[in-house]
Formats: sequence, structure tokens, C-alpha cells
Amino acid sequence: GTVDLEADVVVLGGGPGGYSAAFRAADLGLKVVLVERYATLGGVCLNVGCIPSKALLHVAAVMDEVKHLEVAGIQFGAPQVNIDQLRGHKEKVIGKLTGGLVQMAKMRKVTVLRGYGQFVGSHHIEVQETTGTGQEKTGSKKVVQFKNAIIAAGSQAVHLPFMPKDERVVDSTGALDLKAVPKRMLILGGGIIGLEMGTVYSTLGARLDVVEMMDGLMQGADRDLVKVWQKMNAPRFDNIMVNTKTVGAEATPEGIKVTFAPAKDGVTVPEPQTYDLVLQAVGRTPNGKKIGAEAAGVAVTDRGFIDVDIQMRTNVPHIFAIGDIVGQPMLAHKAVHEAHVAAEVIAGELQGNKELAAAAFNARVIPSVAYTDPEVAWVGLTEDQAKAQGIKVKKGLFPWAASGRAIANGRDEGFTKLLFDDSPEAHGHGRILGGGIVGTHAGDMIGEIALAIEMGADTVDIGKTIHPHPTLGESIGMAAEVAHGSCTDVP
Ligand code: FAD
Repeated sequence: GTVDLEADVVVLGGGPGGYSAAFRAADLGLKVVLVERYATLGGVCLNVGCIPSKALLHVAAVMDEVKHLEVAGIQFGAPQVNIDQLRGHKEKVIGKLTGGLVQMAKMRKVTVLRGYGQFVGSHHIEVQETTGTGQEKTGSKKVVQFKNAIIAAGSQAVHLPFMPKDERVVDSTGALDLKAVPKRMLILGGGIIGLEMGTVYSTLGARLDVVEMMDGLMQGADRDLVKVWQKMNAPRFDNIMVNTKTVGAEATPEGIKVTFAPAKDGVTVPEPQTYDLVLQAVGRTPNGKKIGAEAAGVAVTDRGFIDVDIQMRTNVPHIFAIGDIVGQPMLAHKAVHEAHVAAEVIAGELQGNKELAAAAFNARVIPSVAYTDPEVAWVGLTEDQAKAQGIKVKKGLFPWAASGRAIANGRDEGFTKLLFDDSPEAHGHGRILGGGIVGTHAGDMIGEIALAIEMGADTVDIGKTIHPHPTLGESIGMAAEVAHGSCTDVP
């Protein structure tokens, strides 16, 4: 057939994985075509994920923060919320970032091809032009011939089969649309995405229920971190239902009537409840089955993931995959790092540069953050995991009730916790294995713990590093000193 464009690398999908791969490959001198079906670059993260959620969470955090000033004798009136303007503000934030990406692509001479891409062979991808804000196909098609491909087609929200099609039932994308503030809202799935959106809606005035199949909210985080969040957030909720399944839902004039069932013996669940808004946040599913992978010989798992090696290579050596489509954790910072690996390996091979060609994804840890209020952040081994795996750890816990800055901020509910290897082989000088922070700005501080883990730091390295006073970040040094058992001891 005819070939319209040729590329050293075609990148399928313009999210954080895709644009990062395209930009790095172009910076390394390769001819790059980036295929994206939507009108803007940035994928889920910039358009309907990380960024818009944080724009709204910032607003919610400030609205909530001023209430903490009442103890200082400062009273604000009830906030006047203009929801259309708030939505507009969020759109502007997105526009700044996605517009920036267009400029960055231009500067690097990356060809952005707007359309729906599907492999039609091992070296060819067909792109059906799309238009509008969605993905309506225009009928016009282009075939790109590539030496290498990077699949970065991402994921989408899971929809429960029994949920009625109704505007009062939304996923995270619908929730970010922020049409109105409901009186009663159900968050289906007690993970980070659901709880972040719940925080926004509750600050704007909604009463929350949450239902979670597992035995606690925010799975993956240590239970003691979550406990602090839950205590502070209890007033937002009428019902926190754990070990509970949602088994049915019906659209009625009064609202969405949802039926619950125990997910475990001995659990009692409420009668069916009626909500003005139901947010489905029960996970995300990869887009692996929608890209014509079979035509290129790329293996896709039953669930739609694409398996890769540490160089991000699929079973087809010149085709790579990165980001949400290769598996958990589905996080933007993971996608970006994988993107750089794939681009570097390809550039190295095409240019005979052995060092680049040997690039690999070998991060020890990937941090997670719930941008709730307070924030919950963790990285590496958690205490629960250490217990379950029988790993002996030395714990350093620094309660923020002893932090001058946290007290001055009127927010001393949090703590910082570090875990060090305490196995006999470590001889009392074990390296840091993990850490967690719950408190305001926890997400901004967790990177230091990630760095300490990557560097193989021990209690002395962290404890003797002079942190500025008075800061919340100081609590990381203090936690290390607590683990070390002394503030003055020279090892
Ligand atoms: P995506 O961002 O999903 O991008 C894939 C792109 O490929 C999309 O633009 C899609 O249109 C395009 N595409 C797919 N198939 C085709 C095709 N056949 N042809 C053409 N184009 C195609 N992560 C964090 O790290 N921090 C956060 O705070 C955070 N908050 C989040 C909040 C919400 C509400 C959600 C939903 C997610 C959040 N995430 C967060 C997760 C983060 O958004 C994803 O991990 C990240 O976007 C994955 O990047 P990606 O490049 O793999 O895929």
C-alpha cells in the first residue's frame, strides 16, 4: 500500500508517556511522528487526570484551610462559589499546559498526527483522522511507516456493567466536568482517585458516602497513615462502607438508588440508598485491545495490558510500550521514566551508541500520593508489607505534634515515618527501605525519601543532613534520628 509518512519512531498516544517519549527521541536526533486522537496533547493526566484534579483540590484545600484560622480569631464568611467560573479556571490551567506541549513539539520538529491509530503491520500504522473535541473520524487516513514504535495508548475508567446510563452516574472524567454540586454523593471505590474527587465535592458542599470492597480505604498505604486521614475526614462522610460490594443500581426520579451487599461474612450493609451523584472510581483498564496490536504481532494480555522487559520492549523487538498500558502503578511519573528509557534504547540502537542502547528502567521505588487533605504519601516498603514479608525493620516515627512548623500552621495531625533494614546482615546500619508521610504537603516531601532509598541512605545520612528549620521537611531528618536512637551519637 501507499505510505504517507516515514519515521524513525512512531509514538501512539500523546499522554505523559507518549509526549515524553516523543520529545526525548527527537532531542536524541530521531525523526518522530506522535499520534493522538484527541484535539490536545497531554493524555489523561493533563486533560482529565492529575492536573485538573489538582487545580480543583487546590481550591478545596484553601477553602478548608481558612477554617483552621478560626482558632486564631480569623473568621471568613461563607464562600460564594461560582461553579461555571471554577470550571473555567480549571480549563485555563489545562490549556496553559497542553498549549505548552504544542510549542514543545514544534520546537523539536515532532510531527503531531491527529487521529486514531491502529497497527496494520509490523512496520506500519494507519491513522484515521479525527476531529472535534472527541474522536469523530473524518474518513481521511494516513499510513505511517516506522522503524520503531512506542505504544503509549494509556487506560480508561472501568464502568460497572449494572450501572444505569444516566447523567447522575459519572466516572472521574465526568466528575471533573463539575456541572453542579450534588447534595448526596456516592463514591464507588475507596482509592486515591475517588477520595480526591470526593474531597473537592465535599468542600463544595456535598455529603459523601463511600463504598469499598476491601477492608479499608486507600489500599496500598500503611493503615496508620490512612487512620490520620480518616479521622480528619470523618465529618465529610455519612457512611464509610468497607468490605462492601455494590450489587445494583437503578435510576429513579429521586436519584440513583444503589444496593449494597457484604463482601465478607459478618459485615452488615445499609438498606439501598439514593444519591444525586454516583462516582464510579473502581479502577482503570488498559487500552491494549484497541490498537490493532495483533497486526504487528504484539502480544496483549487478557486484561489488555502489554508485557515489556526492563528496556520497555514488547515481544516484538522494535516495538516498545510504556505507561498505564504496561501495568501498575498507573502513575504519570512512572510513564515519563519509562518513556525516556524506550526513547533512549531506540536512539542508541539506530545510532550505534552502546550506552544509550543499554538504558533500562531500574527504579527501586515509585512514590504514591493521595492529594487529599491531609495528603497521604508513601514510597518503597510499607510497614504492613514489612510485617507480611517478615522483613525486620527499624522504625523512626516523628509525630508532627512535635514539629514547630506544623504547630505554627495549626496542622499538627500528621507524622513522618521511615523504615530501615534491621536484618542481622545490616549490623545496625541498615539502609532505608521505605517511608510514609501523612500531613499537609506530604506529596511535596516524599521525593526526598525516594531519593534516600535510591541512594541507599542510612539513618545517619538522613539524620545528619541539615534540614532547614522550621519546615515540615525537617520531620524526615527527625524521623531518621529517632530511628538511629540519638541526636548526637557519632557512628
Ligand atoms: P494516557 O495519559 O492515558 O494517554 C494515552 C493517550 O493515548 C490518550 O491521550 C489517548 O487519547 C491516546 N490514545 C489511546 N489510544 C489511541 C489510538 N488508538 N490512537 C490515537 N491515540 C490514542 N497520576 C499521577 O501520577 N498523579 C496524579 O495526581 C494523578 N491523578 C489522576 C487523577 C485522575 C482523575 C486520573 C483518572 C488519573 C490520575 N493519574 C495520576 C494517573 C495518570 O493520569 C496516568 O497514569 C497517566 O496519564 C498515564 O499516562 P499514559 O501516557 O500512559 O497514558
